[in-house]
Amino acid sequence: MLFKVLGKKEFTTFIELLLNDTEVIAPKQVGVDTSGKPLHQYLPVQAFTEIDLSYETTEYSAKTYFLPFRENLSTCSFLDMVWDRQIKYRVQPRAIIGLHACDINALLKLDKVLAGDRFPSPYYISRRKNTFIVGIDHDPCEGGFCQAVGADVVTHGFDLYLTDLEDRYFVAINSERGFNVLQRVKTREPTARDNNDYLDVRRRIAGQFKPLEVHNLPNLMDIEFESKVWKKWADKCLSCGSCAMVCPTCYCYGIEERVSMDNAESAKVKQLYSCQFLDFAMVAGGHNFRPDRETRLKYRYYHQHRGFVEAYEEPLCVGCYRCGRVCLAGINPTDIIGDLQTEYQE
Ligand code: SF4
Ligand code: SF4
Repeated sequence: MLFKVLGKKEFTTFIELLLNDTEVIAPKQVGVDTSGKPLHQYLPVQAFTEIDLSYETTEYSAKTYFLPFRENLSTCSFLDMVWDRQIKYRVQPRAIIGLHACDINALLKLDKVLAGDRFPSPYYISRRKNTFIVGIDHDPCEGGFCQAVGADVVTHGFDLYLTDLEDRYFVAINSERGFNVLQRVKTREPTARDNNDYLDVRRRIAGQFKPLEVHNLPNLMDIEFESKVWKKWADKCLSCGSCAMVCPTCYCYGIEERVSMDNAESAKVKQLYSCQFLDFAMVAGGHNFRPDRETRLKYRYYHQHRGFVEAYEEPLCVGCYRCGRVCLAGINPTDIIGDLQTEYQE
Protein backbone atom coordinates (compact mmCIF):
# COMPACT_ATOMS: atom_id res chain seq x y z
CA MET A 1 0.00 0.00 0.00
CA LEU A 2 1.21 3.49 -0.87
CA PHE A 3 0.62 6.36 1.55
CA LYS A 4 0.50 10.13 1.00
CA VAL A 5 -0.41 13.12 3.10
CA LEU A 6 -3.02 15.52 1.77
CA GLY A 7 -3.77 18.95 3.27
CA LYS A 8 -7.43 19.76 4.04
CA LYS A 9 -7.41 22.63 1.53
CA GLU A 10 -6.04 20.34 -1.18
CA PHE A 11 -8.73 17.81 -0.32
CA THR A 12 -11.41 20.44 -1.02
CA THR A 13 -9.75 21.13 -4.38
CA PHE A 14 -9.60 17.38 -5.05
CA ILE A 15 -13.37 17.01 -4.52
CA GLU A 16 -14.10 20.11 -6.61
CA LEU A 17 -12.08 18.64 -9.48
CA LEU A 18 -14.01 15.38 -9.18
CA LEU A 19 -17.28 17.32 -9.18
CA ASN A 20 -16.26 18.96 -12.46
CA ASP A 21 -16.11 15.71 -14.35
CA THR A 22 -18.14 13.02 -12.66
CA GLU A 23 -21.21 12.32 -10.57
CA VAL A 24 -20.27 12.48 -6.89
CA ILE A 25 -22.16 10.67 -4.13
CA ALA A 26 -21.35 11.56 -0.53
CA PRO A 27 -22.84 11.59 2.98
CA LYS A 28 -25.28 14.45 3.29
CA GLN A 29 -27.35 15.49 6.29
CA VAL A 30 -31.04 15.08 5.48
CA GLY A 31 -32.62 15.98 8.82
CA VAL A 32 -32.59 15.10 12.51
CA ASP A 33 -34.25 12.29 14.47
CA THR A 34 -36.66 12.81 17.37
CA SER A 35 -33.77 13.37 19.77
CA GLY A 36 -32.14 15.94 17.49
CA LYS A 37 -29.41 13.61 16.25
CA PRO A 38 -28.41 14.29 12.61
CA LEU A 39 -29.62 11.84 9.96
CA HIS A 40 -27.50 11.21 6.87
CA GLN A 41 -27.84 9.50 3.51
CA TYR A 42 -25.42 8.85 0.64
CA LEU A 43 -26.77 11.23 -1.99
CA PRO A 44 -25.56 13.03 -5.13
CA VAL A 45 -23.86 16.33 -4.26
CA GLN A 46 -23.10 19.36 -6.41
CA ALA A 47 -20.71 21.23 -4.08
CA PHE A 48 -18.11 20.36 -1.45
CA THR A 49 -20.12 22.24 1.20
CA GLU A 50 -22.97 19.71 0.92
CA ILE A 51 -20.71 16.89 2.15
CA ASP A 52 -20.59 16.00 5.84
CA LEU A 53 -17.67 13.62 6.39
CA SER A 54 -18.10 13.70 10.18
CA TYR A 55 -21.34 11.67 9.84
CA GLU A 56 -21.88 8.72 12.15
CA THR A 57 -23.73 6.44 9.74
CA THR A 58 -26.33 6.59 6.97
CA GLU A 59 -29.84 5.17 7.20
CA TYR A 60 -29.48 3.38 3.84
CA SER A 61 -26.22 1.83 2.76
CA ALA A 62 -24.37 2.61 -0.48
CA LYS A 63 -25.63 -0.74 -1.82
CA THR A 64 -28.26 1.17 -3.75
CA TYR A 65 -25.56 2.49 -6.14
CA PHE A 66 -24.51 -1.06 -7.03
CA LEU A 67 -27.76 -2.99 -6.56
CA PRO A 68 -30.56 -0.52 -7.17
CA PHE A 69 -33.89 -1.31 -5.55
CA ARG A 70 -35.39 -1.84 -9.00
CA GLU A 71 -33.74 -2.12 -12.43
CA ASN A 72 -34.60 -3.32 -15.92
CA LEU A 73 -32.44 -6.29 -16.86
CA SER A 74 -33.69 -6.18 -20.43
CA THR A 75 -36.46 -4.72 -22.53
CA CYS A 76 -38.11 -6.17 -25.64
CA SER A 77 -40.17 -4.70 -28.40
CA PHE A 78 -42.18 -6.63 -30.97
CA LEU A 79 -42.76 -4.71 -34.16
CA ASP A 80 -43.63 -5.99 -37.64
CA MET A 81 -43.13 -9.58 -36.48
CA VAL A 82 -39.56 -8.81 -35.28
CA TRP A 83 -38.41 -9.11 -31.66
CA ASP A 84 -35.80 -6.59 -30.58
CA ARG A 85 -34.16 -7.14 -27.21
CA GLN A 86 -32.09 -4.45 -25.48
CA ILE A 87 -29.74 -4.88 -22.53
CA LYS A 88 -28.05 -1.85 -21.00
CA TYR A 89 -25.31 -1.71 -18.39
CA ARG A 90 -24.52 1.42 -16.46
CA VAL A 91 -21.06 2.60 -17.58
CA GLN A 92 -21.12 6.27 -16.57
CA PRO A 93 -18.35 7.02 -14.04
CA ARG A 94 -19.33 7.82 -10.50
CA ALA A 95 -17.39 8.62 -7.33
CA ILE A 96 -18.55 7.72 -3.83
CA ILE A 97 -16.81 9.76 -1.16
CA GLY A 98 -16.64 8.96 2.53
CA LEU A 99 -17.55 5.27 2.73
CA HIS A 100 -16.71 3.73 6.09
CA ALA A 101 -14.68 0.51 6.39
CA CYS A 102 -17.76 -1.64 7.10
CA ASP A 103 -19.47 -0.45 3.91
CA ILE A 104 -16.37 -1.13 1.80
CA ASN A 105 -16.12 -4.57 3.39
CA ALA A 106 -19.80 -5.07 2.48
CA LEU A 107 -18.92 -4.40 -1.18
CA LEU A 108 -16.07 -6.93 -0.98
CA LYS A 109 -18.59 -9.52 0.24
CA LEU A 110 -21.02 -8.65 -2.55
CA ASP A 111 -18.08 -8.99 -4.98
CA LYS A 112 -17.65 -12.60 -3.86
CA VAL A 113 -21.23 -13.41 -4.82
CA LEU A 114 -21.91 -11.07 -7.74
CA ALA A 115 -18.48 -10.68 -9.31
CA GLY A 116 -17.11 -14.16 -8.64
CA ASP A 117 -16.74 -17.07 -11.05
CA ARG A 118 -20.01 -18.88 -10.35
CA PHE A 119 -22.83 -16.34 -10.82
CA PRO A 120 -21.29 -13.08 -12.07
CA SER A 121 -23.74 -10.24 -12.60
CA PRO A 122 -22.64 -7.94 -15.46
CA TYR A 123 -25.01 -5.26 -14.11
CA TYR A 124 -23.23 -5.25 -10.74
CA ILE A 125 -19.74 -5.60 -12.23
CA SER A 126 -20.13 -2.62 -14.58
CA ARG A 127 -21.30 -0.41 -11.71
CA ARG A 128 -18.51 -1.61 -9.44
CA LYS A 129 -15.78 -1.08 -12.06
CA ASN A 130 -16.99 2.42 -12.91
CA THR A 131 -17.24 3.61 -9.32
CA PHE A 132 -14.31 5.44 -7.75
CA ILE A 133 -14.34 4.86 -3.99
CA VAL A 134 -12.84 7.15 -1.37
CA GLY A 135 -13.22 5.70 2.13
CA ILE A 136 -12.66 7.38 5.50
CA ASP A 137 -11.88 6.22 9.04
CA HIS A 138 -14.37 7.09 11.77
CA ASP A 139 -15.17 6.53 15.43
CA PRO A 140 -17.52 3.57 16.09
CA CYS A 141 -21.19 4.29 15.47
CA GLU A 142 -23.84 3.59 18.10
CA GLY A 143 -24.69 -0.11 18.17
CA GLY A 144 -22.10 -0.99 15.50
CA PHE A 145 -20.18 -4.23 16.04
CA CYS A 146 -18.02 -4.20 12.90
CA GLN A 147 -14.87 -4.96 14.91
CA ALA A 148 -16.39 -8.21 16.22
CA VAL A 149 -17.02 -9.44 12.67
CA GLY A 150 -13.66 -8.18 11.34
CA ALA A 151 -15.08 -5.32 9.27
CA ASP A 152 -13.66 -2.28 11.12
CA VAL A 153 -10.52 -2.16 8.96
CA VAL A 154 -10.21 -2.50 5.22
CA THR A 155 -7.15 -3.12 3.07
CA HIS A 156 -8.64 -3.25 -0.43
CA GLY A 157 -11.88 -2.65 -2.33
CA PHE A 158 -11.32 1.13 -2.50
CA ASP A 159 -9.26 3.59 -4.53
CA LEU A 160 -8.28 5.97 -1.72
CA TYR A 161 -8.82 5.76 2.01
CA LEU A 162 -8.52 8.75 4.33
CA THR A 163 -7.67 9.01 7.99
CA ASP A 164 -8.33 12.43 9.51
CA LEU A 165 -5.23 13.81 11.28
CA GLU A 166 -7.02 17.11 12.15
CA ASP A 167 -5.18 19.52 9.83
CA ARG A 168 -4.47 16.91 7.12
CA TYR A 169 -5.47 13.49 5.79
CA PHE A 170 -3.32 10.39 5.80
CA VAL A 171 -4.23 8.77 2.49
CA ALA A 172 -3.90 5.06 1.63
CA ILE A 173 -3.73 4.49 -2.14
CA ASN A 174 -5.03 1.16 -3.32
CA SER A 175 -5.35 1.43 -7.10
CA GLU A 176 -3.59 2.87 -10.10
CA ARG A 177 -6.74 4.90 -10.73
CA GLY A 178 -6.54 6.31 -7.19
CA PHE A 179 -2.85 7.15 -7.66
CA ASN A 180 -3.49 8.93 -10.97
CA VAL A 181 -6.47 10.94 -9.75
CA LEU A 182 -4.52 12.05 -6.67
CA GLN A 183 -1.82 13.47 -8.97
CA ARG A 184 -4.21 16.33 -9.72
CA VAL A 185 -3.52 17.90 -6.32
CA LYS A 186 -0.45 18.54 -4.19
CA THR A 187 0.46 15.75 -1.77
CA ARG A 188 3.60 14.83 0.12
CA GLU A 189 5.31 11.74 1.48
CA PRO A 190 4.39 10.87 5.11
CA THR A 191 6.96 11.79 7.76
CA ALA A 192 7.61 9.76 10.93
CA ARG A 193 5.24 12.14 12.74
CA ASP A 194 2.47 11.51 10.19
CA ASN A 195 2.92 7.74 10.59
CA ASN A 196 2.78 8.03 14.39
CA ASP A 197 -0.30 10.26 14.31
CA TYR A 198 -2.02 7.83 11.93
CA LEU A 199 -1.27 4.83 14.15
CA ASP A 200 -2.47 6.78 17.22
CA VAL A 201 -5.81 7.49 15.51
CA ARG A 202 -6.19 3.84 14.51
CA ARG A 203 -5.43 2.72 18.09
CA ARG A 204 -7.91 5.24 19.53
CA ILE A 205 -10.66 4.04 17.18
CA ALA A 206 -9.95 0.35 17.81
CA GLY A 207 -10.10 0.90 21.59
CA GLN A 208 -13.62 2.36 21.49
CA PHE A 209 -15.58 -0.65 20.21
CA LYS A 210 -17.90 -2.46 22.58
CA PRO A 211 -17.15 -6.20 22.55
CA LEU A 212 -19.65 -8.68 21.11
CA GLU A 213 -18.99 -12.39 21.51
CA VAL A 214 -19.23 -13.94 18.05
CA HIS A 215 -16.60 -16.60 18.62
CA ASN A 216 -17.78 -19.99 17.31
CA LEU A 217 -21.10 -18.45 16.20
CA PRO A 218 -21.72 -20.82 13.24
CA ASN A 219 -21.40 -23.87 15.50
CA LEU A 220 -23.42 -22.21 18.26
CA MET A 221 -26.20 -21.52 15.75
CA ASP A 222 -26.28 -25.19 14.74
CA ILE A 223 -26.54 -26.21 18.39
CA GLU A 224 -29.24 -23.58 18.99
CA PHE A 225 -31.30 -24.33 15.88
CA GLU A 226 -34.38 -25.20 17.95
CA SER A 227 -33.75 -22.46 20.54
CA LYS A 228 -36.72 -20.56 21.94
CA VAL A 229 -34.70 -17.38 21.29
CA TRP A 230 -35.93 -17.45 17.66
CA LYS A 231 -39.59 -17.52 18.65
CA LYS A 232 -39.08 -14.85 21.30
CA TRP A 233 -37.84 -12.36 18.70
CA ALA A 234 -39.91 -13.58 15.73
CA ASP A 235 -43.14 -13.02 17.70
CA LYS A 236 -42.34 -9.29 17.50
CA CYS A 237 -41.43 -9.29 13.79
CA LEU A 238 -43.70 -7.37 11.41
CA SER A 239 -42.34 -9.12 8.28
CA CYS A 240 -41.80 -5.63 6.81
CA GLY A 241 -38.43 -6.47 5.21
CA SER A 242 -36.86 -3.14 6.22
CA CYS A 243 -33.86 -4.90 7.78
CA ALA A 244 -32.88 -6.44 4.42
CA MET A 245 -33.51 -3.21 2.49
CA VAL A 246 -31.09 -1.14 4.58
CA CYS A 247 -28.53 -3.94 4.94
CA PRO A 248 -25.37 -3.32 2.87
CA THR A 249 -24.95 -7.05 2.19
CA CYS A 250 -28.49 -8.45 1.66
CA TYR A 251 -28.73 -9.11 -2.07
CA CYS A 252 -31.80 -11.35 -2.52
CA TYR A 253 -34.10 -10.31 -5.33
CA GLY A 254 -37.07 -11.34 -7.43
CA ILE A 255 -37.57 -11.02 -11.19
CA GLU A 256 -40.81 -10.39 -13.02
CA GLU A 257 -41.77 -10.03 -16.65
CA ARG A 258 -43.90 -6.99 -17.43
CA VAL A 259 -45.71 -7.23 -20.74
CA SER A 260 -47.75 -4.42 -22.27
CA MET A 261 -51.46 -5.05 -22.93
CA ASP A 262 -50.90 -5.16 -26.69
CA ASN A 263 -47.94 -7.56 -26.35
CA ALA A 264 -45.75 -5.07 -28.25
CA GLU A 265 -43.32 -4.39 -25.36
CA SER A 266 -41.99 -6.20 -22.34
CA ALA A 267 -39.41 -5.73 -19.62
CA LYS A 268 -37.59 -8.12 -17.33
CA VAL A 269 -37.52 -6.27 -14.02
CA LYS A 270 -35.30 -7.15 -11.08
CA GLN A 271 -36.35 -5.90 -7.66
CA LEU A 272 -34.66 -6.38 -4.30
CA TYR A 273 -36.64 -8.68 -2.06
CA SER A 274 -36.49 -9.70 1.57
CA CYS A 275 -36.40 -13.17 3.09
CA GLN A 276 -38.66 -11.73 5.81
CA PHE A 277 -41.60 -11.38 3.39
CA LEU A 278 -44.33 -14.00 3.77
CA ASP A 279 -44.06 -15.24 0.16
CA PHE A 280 -40.25 -15.28 -0.12
CA ALA A 281 -40.02 -19.08 -0.05
CA MET A 282 -43.33 -19.74 -1.81
CA VAL A 283 -43.02 -22.09 -4.79
CA ALA A 284 -45.28 -23.21 -7.62
CA GLY A 285 -48.32 -25.04 -6.30
CA GLY A 286 -48.56 -22.70 -3.32
CA HIS A 287 -46.21 -24.51 -0.94
CA ASN A 288 -44.30 -22.19 1.35
CA PHE A 289 -41.04 -23.49 2.78
CA ARG A 290 -40.94 -20.75 5.43
CA PRO A 291 -44.55 -19.87 6.24
CA ASP A 292 -43.95 -18.55 9.76
CA ARG A 293 -41.98 -15.61 11.09
CA GLU A 294 -39.72 -17.76 13.24
CA THR A 295 -38.26 -19.72 10.33
CA ARG A 296 -37.91 -16.55 8.23
CA LEU A 297 -36.10 -14.58 10.94
CA LYS A 298 -33.89 -17.57 11.66
CA TYR A 299 -33.13 -17.99 7.94
CA ARG A 300 -31.79 -14.42 7.67
CA TYR A 301 -29.47 -14.91 10.64
CA TYR A 302 -28.32 -18.31 9.38
CA HIS A 303 -27.51 -16.84 5.98
CA GLN A 304 -25.59 -13.93 7.51
CA HIS A 305 -23.68 -15.79 10.22
CA ARG A 306 -23.57 -19.43 9.21
CA GLY A 307 -24.30 -20.24 5.54
CA PHE A 308 -22.01 -17.49 4.19
CA VAL A 309 -19.23 -18.60 6.56
CA GLU A 310 -19.52 -22.12 5.17
CA ALA A 311 -19.30 -20.83 1.58
CA TYR A 312 -16.72 -18.03 1.98
CA GLU A 313 -15.14 -18.53 5.42
CA GLU A 314 -16.38 -15.20 6.74
CA PRO A 315 -19.76 -13.85 7.89
CA LEU A 316 -21.88 -11.86 5.47
CA CYS A 317 -22.77 -9.36 8.19
CA VAL A 318 -20.39 -6.39 8.59
CA GLY A 319 -21.88 -5.22 11.90
CA CYS A 320 -23.16 -1.84 10.70
CA TYR A 321 -26.30 -2.16 12.89
CA ARG A 322 -28.57 -0.55 10.27
CA CYS A 323 -31.02 -3.45 10.59
CA GLY A 324 -31.23 -2.89 14.36
CA ARG A 325 -31.70 0.86 13.90
CA VAL A 326 -34.48 0.57 11.32
CA CYS A 327 -36.50 -2.20 12.99
CA LEU A 328 -39.73 -0.85 14.48
CA ALA A 329 -40.08 -4.01 16.56
CA GLY A 330 -36.71 -3.53 18.29
CA ILE A 331 -35.16 -6.67 16.77
CA ASN A 332 -31.39 -6.38 16.43
CA PRO A 333 -28.39 -8.65 15.91
CA THR A 334 -26.59 -7.80 19.15
CA ASP A 335 -29.55 -8.82 21.32
CA ILE A 336 -30.24 -11.99 19.32
CA ILE A 337 -26.59 -13.09 19.31
CA GLY A 338 -26.33 -12.15 23.00
CA ASP A 339 -29.43 -14.26 23.81
CA LEU A 340 -28.01 -17.25 21.91
CA GLN A 341 -24.70 -16.95 23.76
CA THR A 342 -26.44 -16.64 27.11
CA GLU A 343 -28.71 -19.59 26.47
CA TYR A 344 -25.69 -21.68 25.50
CA GLN A 345 -24.01 -20.88 28.83
CA GLU A 346 -27.11 -21.70 30.92
S1 SF4 B 1 -37.14 -4.81 10.20
FE1 SF4 B 1 -37.70 -5.89 12.10
S2 SF4 B 1 -39.91 -6.15 11.94
FE2 SF4 B 1 -39.21 -5.70 9.86
S3 SF4 B 1 -38.82 -7.75 8.96
FE3 SF4 B 1 -36.87 -7.05 9.82
S4 SF4 B 1 -36.81 -7.96 11.90
FE4 SF4 B 1 -38.97 -8.05 11.18
S1 SF4 C 1 -27.25 -7.85 9.13
FE1 SF4 C 1 -27.62 -5.86 10.09
S2 SF4 C 1 -25.68 -5.38 11.14
FE2 SF4 C 1 -25.24 -7.01 9.66
S3 SF4 C 1 -24.56 -5.95 7.80
FE3 SF4 C 1 -26.79 -6.29 7.59
S4 SF4 C 1 -27.73 -4.39 8.39
FE4 SF4 C 1 -25.58 -4.41 9.07
